[in-house]
Amino acid sequence: MTTGRVPVRTRIAPSPTGFLHLGTARTALYSWAYARHHGGQFVLRIEDTDVARSTQDSVEQILVAMRWLGLDYDEGPIYQMQRLERYHAVVEQMLAAGTAYRCYCTPDELEAMREAQRARGEKTRYDGRWRPRPGKTLPLPPAGVQPVVRFANPPDGHVHWDDLVKGPISISNEEIDDLIILRPPPEGAGAGALGVPTYNFAVVVDDWDMAITHVFRGDEHINNTPWQINIFRALKAPLPLFGHCPIILGEDGLKLSKRRGAVSVTAYQEAGYLPEAMLNYLARLGWSHGDEELFSREQMVQWFDGSHLAKSPAQWDPAKLAWVNAHYIKVAADDRLAALVVPFLQQRGVTVEAADARLAARCALFKDRCNTLAELADWLAMFHLPPAPSDADRATHLTDAVRPALAALRARLASVSWDKAGIAQAMKDTLAEHKLKMPQLAPPVRVAVCGRSQTPAIDAVLALYDRDAVLQRLAVVLD
Ligand code: GLU
Repeated sequence: MTTGRVPVRTRIAPSPTGFLHLGTARTALYSWAYARHHGGQFVLRIEDTDVARSTQDSVEQILVAMRWLGLDYDEGPIYQMQRLERYHAVVEQMLAAGTAYRCYCTPDELEAMREAQRARGEKTRYDGRWRPRPGKTLPLPPAGVQPVVRFANPPDGHVHWDDLVKGPISISNEEIDDLIILRPPPEGAGAGALGVPTYNFAVVVDDWDMAITHVFRGDEHINNTPWQINIFRALKAPLPLFGHCPIILGEDGLKLSKRRGAVSVTAYQEAGYLPEAMLNYLARLGWSHGDEELFSREQMVQWFDGSHLAKSPAQWDPAKLAWVNAHYIKVAADDRLAALVVPFLQQRGVTVEAADARLAARCALFKDRCNTLAELADWLAMFHLPPAPSDADRATHLTDAVRPALAALRARLASVSWDKAGIAQAMKDTLAEHKLKMPQLAPPVRVAVCGRSQTPAIDAVLALYDRDAVLQRLAVVLD
């Protein structure tokens, strides 16, 4: 599992063309945990060479999401667009060494080449017409055409690697054509503008320069890896180990995608998931440690040695994620939940101070019945918003038969000590006086005060309201 190179260095290399995708977050987590497990380093690199689609806003979103997940990096963010000179220097070395060459084909020529190959029933590929060979005379470079630089891929043999996830993989070099590694600067870019390298080349120079020992990434890149290995070899650079994680499938068995639900880390943060729940759930989505389903970040670091990574795609399971989140909400400290729930309450029109001690106490009472912070806020909003019981609850619970008991309870509540014990006593005395049982009185009180017929124990709930608010809400239904 190791290259023998120390320290172990891993990286995540997102392209800043949107939010932090769940799949990228998962490979970031694996890379981070692997580095931490080995006491190594984790690097964040921003692959922003797709200039048209990369934005600073997206970089910010990615950084915020990484911070939220607690995936701390030791170096970076390193921006590829700030390293253009380095890529050019490496290209020059390769041109001099003959492992790269200039190609003057125009887009039209390339299209005609592919067209002819298709017509012959062949696989489309660059035919090597500008590749120097012993005894071959190259055409004269046409005037006015800015060349690209291509990698001179080895013409025969195999590329072989032992994938950390998929096991041994071998590809014949005959399958692989001469990849473009550097494009000319766009027309009108101005004097001195540098051309931009392609992904497969920049990634190799970076992984080499950054001394990356282990590359975890999504298996959509598996077809790129043979090129990258050949470029590493051409540069006489030490090879990292590669681990390609299978894609994440949506509930429908198709690739998890934006069109079919939330795919960004931020969307889950906004829906009220806790970062430790996301980490735990993402970790299990493609990796296991025995039967463990719930584990801390520290345990994951301790266990994550690159083994037990799943070869087959994992399926996104919202119900399981909700279960994991419910667990972490239940065990979270009350004052932390209080701080976290404030923005969710704000969305529900409730302004409240996180430092309000009663907010933490309310979180304590409801946290064992919520899948998300949004659900917690739905409960807590009832302490602030006027009750709005359903017609059915009104008809069932706020009957004339129960009103005298409600009135009596209200009178008692006006003078008891305002705590759980005092309120429980008032309930008990009212039940005795009116010859009722708890299930006959508690639901009407809930509907009148909380606007719903089910809550945790009524004495505990009422104690978390202001006395005046309870008296006023009971008065409304007694009118
Ligand atoms: N920028 C690439 C991506 O976001 C990185 C792939 C890699 O890790 O090499 O998919």
